[in-house]
Amino acid sequence: MPNDKLNPFKIAQEQLDQTAQILKLEPALHEALRWPMREIHVLLPVKMDNGKTEIFKGFRVQYNDARGPCKGGIRFHPEETIDTVRALAAWMTWKTALLDLPFGGGKGGVICNPKELSAGELERICRAYIDQLAFALGSDKDIPAPDVYTNPQIMAWMLDEFQKIKGSHDPGMITGKPLAIGGSLGREDATGRGALYVIKEAAKLLKMDLKKCKVAIQGFGNAGYFLAKLCPEILGAKVIAVSDSKGGIVLESGLDADKVMEHKHKNGSVDCFPNSKKISNAELLELDVDILIPAALENVVTKENAGKIRAKLLAETANGPTTPEADEILFKNNIFVIPDFLCNAGGVTVSYFEWVQNVSGLYWEEEEVHKRLEEKMVKAFGSVVETAGKYKVNNRMGAYIVAVSRVAEAMKARGWV
Ligand code: NAD
Repeated sequence: MPNDKLNPFKIAQEQLDQTAQILKLEPALHEALRWPMREIHVLLPVKMDNGKTEIFKGFRVQYNDARGPCKGGIRFHPEETIDTVRALAAWMTWKTALLDLPFGGGKGGVICNPKELSAGELERICRAYIDQLAFALGSDKDIPAPDVYTNPQIMAWMLDEFQKIKGSHDPGMITGKPLAIGGSLGREDATGRGALYVIKEAAKLLKMDLKKCKVAIQGFGNAGYFLAKLCPEILGAKVIAVSDSKGGIVLESGLDADKVMEHKHKNGSVDCFPNSKKISNAELLELDVDILIPAALENVVTKENAGKIRAKLLAETANGPTTPEADEILFKNNIFVIPDFLCNAGGVTVSYFEWVQNVSGLYWEEEEVHKRLEEKMVKAFGSVVETAGKYKVNNRMGAYIVAVSRVAEAMKARGWV
C-alpha cells in the first residue's frame, strides 16, 4: 500500500475502533473483531496459452463466522492486495449482520488482469483457485460470489471444479451462478436494485422530489449499469453522467443505459458516447447533481474532493469509496451518506436468497425476489437511520453500531469471549 492512510484495512479497523468505543466493547471482544479469524494465501500455477506456466497469487479471508458460514465475493484485479481483501471481508461481516442474514463475512481475490487473459486462461485460474481452496469452502462453510471483474461464468467454473473434487452436488457453495446451474432470478441486477430501494427511502426522508433529480454514477460495470438502467423505473430520476476506468460522459438530457452499454461493448468504454460531453472520473464526482453514486473502486471520495461534492445524497454502491477524513467533511456539509455496506447489500441479500433456494431445492419467481429484497433493504435502512439518530452519529457509524452489536452478541452467545 503506497499510502497507509488509504489502506482499506486500516480504514476498516479505524471504523471498528470508533464503534467499539461507542459500544464500550470489552477489550478481548474488540480485539477479536479487529482481525480476520482465518486467512489463506494460495499460489496458483497456471498453464498459459503460450505453453509457459505463470504463477498467480490468491487469497481467501474468512473474517468472522459467529453468525453463520462466511459469505463474500471474489475479485480478480491486478492491484489486489491482502489488505484490500481483509477490509472487504470485514465489511462483509458487518453487511450480513446489518441485513440480518445468517452468514458471517469473507472475501477472496486473485492478483491478475482478466482483460489480458484468454477465456481458457481465465478458466484455468478459476479451477486452480478452487483446487487450492476447496477444503475451506462449501454451502455450510464459506460461500463465494462475484465481485470486481468476476461474473456468473467464473462462478460456474468454480462450482464445477468444486463438485468434481467433492464428488457431489452442492450448488449453495457459490452464488451469482448462471440460472442453468442453480442461480436465482433477480440476482444479476440485485446490487443496483437494492441500492435504488434505499436511495428511494433516503429521498423520502430528505423530502427530495425524485422526478426532478439528476444522478451521476461512477463505474459502469455490473453495479453501475443496473443502477443506470433501473434508476428511471425505480426512482423516476434522470441519470446524466456515468464513467468507467477510461473516463466519463455527461448528457444533461439523460443517458439511456442500454444504448451506453451497447456503445461500451463496441468501443471498450463509455467514452465518446454520441452527443455526450467527455469528463474525467474526478470531475464526475464534483458535478452539480442531486444524487452521486460511486460504483467502481475504493478511496475515490477523499479530503481533497469531499468539500467539492455538490450532491445532497451520496449512495455508496462501491465498497469503501469514502475515506474517514472525507466522511467528516461530508457530515459537516450535511450530505446524507448511505454507507457502503447498507447501500450495496442487495447483491449479498439476493445471494442469500439464491443459497436458500439451493439448500431447500425450491425456486422462486422473480417478483418474490424483488419483494423480499425491498423488505430487507428498507428494514435495514430504517435501523441505520434510527440508530444514527439515537447515538447522534453519522449513518456509517449507525450501521456499524447495529452490525457490530449483532456479531458481538453471537460471539458472546457461543462463549468465544
Ligand atoms: P465490475 O467489474 O462489473 O465493474 C467495475 C467498473 O468500475 C467498470 O465499469 C470499470 O471500468 C470501472 N472502473 C475500474 N477502475 C476505475 C477507476 N479507476 N475509475 C472509475 N471507474 C473504474 O464491478 P462491480 O461488480 O460493478 O463492482 C463495483 C463496485 O461495487 C465494487 O466496489 C464492488 O465491491 C461493489 N459491489 C459490487 C457488487 C455486485 O454484486 N456486483 C455487490 C456489492 C458491492
